[in-house]
Amino acid sequence: MDSRLRERARQVIPGGMFGHLHAKGLPEGYPQFFRSGQGCRLTDVDGREYLDFMCSWGPNVLGHRHPEVEEAVRRQLDLGDCLNGPTEHMVTLAERFVDLLPHAAWALFQKNGTDATTTCVTLSRAKTGRRKILVAAEAYHGAVPWCSPSLLGVTAEDRAHIGTYVYNDVASLEAAVERASGDLAAILVSPFKHDYGKEQALPTPEFAAAARRLADAEDAALVLDEVRCGFRLSMQGSWHALGVEPDLCSWSKAIANGYPLAAVTGGEAFRQAASELFVTGSFWCGGAAMAASVATLAVLEREDGPGHMRRMGQRLRDGIAAQAATHGVDLVNSGPPQMPLILFADDVDYRKGELFARETLARGVYMHPRHNMFLSLAHTEADIDEALEATDAALAAVAQHGA
Ligand code: PMP
Repeated sequence: MDSRLRERARQVIPGGMFGHLHAKGLPEGYPQFFRSGQGCRLTDVDGREYLDFMCSWGPNVLGHRHPEVEEAVRRQLDLGDCLNGPTEHMVTLAERFVDLLPHAAWALFQKNGTDATTTCVTLSRAKTGRRKILVAAEAYHGAVPWCSPSLLGVTAEDRAHIGTYVYNDVASLEAAVERASGDLAAILVSPFKHDYGKEQALPTPEFAAAARRLADAEDAALVLDEVRCGFRLSMQGSWHALGVEPDLCSWSKAIANGYPLAAVTGGEAFRQAASELFVTGSFWCGGAAMAASVATLAVLEREDGPGHMRRMGQRLRDGIAAQAATHGVDLVNSGPPQMPLILFADDVDYRKGELFARETLARGVYMHPRHNMFLSLAHTEADIDEALEATDAALAAVAQHGA
């Protein structure tokens, strides 16, 4: 079925598939099309079931089809989703964001992460009257011309006011700020360094503090792009534990457990500019995704979602590290346990990583060889232990291949 669908897709869909969910970025054998998901299990169109460590690349933070979220969505769908304006859920949800996040005095809602990062950029410029935006080299913030990793169709003018710094390198951030000084609208930063195919790095306290200090000194916005990490690492914001609060945050992925929703949150100083900005979209007020989000945040808070995911991720990481040692395989484990990335030493072409992923997939465990993975509230210790049986066999194959 998957191969037939790929063939049909080649006729009517550009390249057979577009964007980062294209299976061509994965080793052979990975399915392109799926039928269903339940908890931390995923079923492809051919009926093969996988223990899922991608969670739809982040969104399914409670697991697929969490009953409380599904019930909230159903109730709203029975009443109508896309109306002439928002439902009550929008106000309730904004109140929840403001209650949870120390930095936030308001929230506005959109659909995709790119909507939210782009609005943070526009809003920073609107508030400051300046143009320059600093981003970490190789950081991903979305798929439109100001930030796309591809330069196809992008003009020099689209990037004219985007500067770069090196993540966790205070001197390089200082130099980038110096170059933009007088025209700096915002410093954009990810909660941790999660560049594709590279070892991940947590922010150093010095770097986070410097980002805050430099933004303040220039009267520019510090924007934290929470699209990937939001509510997986913390319910108070990913830099709260570091004692650094941003001015603006972009959110999406996990905030509505798979239903399409994004948000921008901001502090009091940005309220006026946010009120004047023209931001809108035909589907941005949909009530069902907001109902899903209210339910998702309630479950995450009640069940300590970030803590559970940290424990399950740590169990997976510790298990794999012990197996790798047994097999004499040199692993590079990085990132927070909730969003682990498994790379291999001396693996510039990712051959070991791809073999590892193929071997786990063949045993019913869906992992990614280059992108950080995602734990969910639905992963139990038994699920992790089941995954570890597959990783043990996969590491044996890597050891054999290496030899
Ligand atoms: N920022 C970050 C950090 C992301 O990981 C992503 C999506 N991978 C985006 C922005 C863009 O989000 P979306 O794909 O929903 O537009």
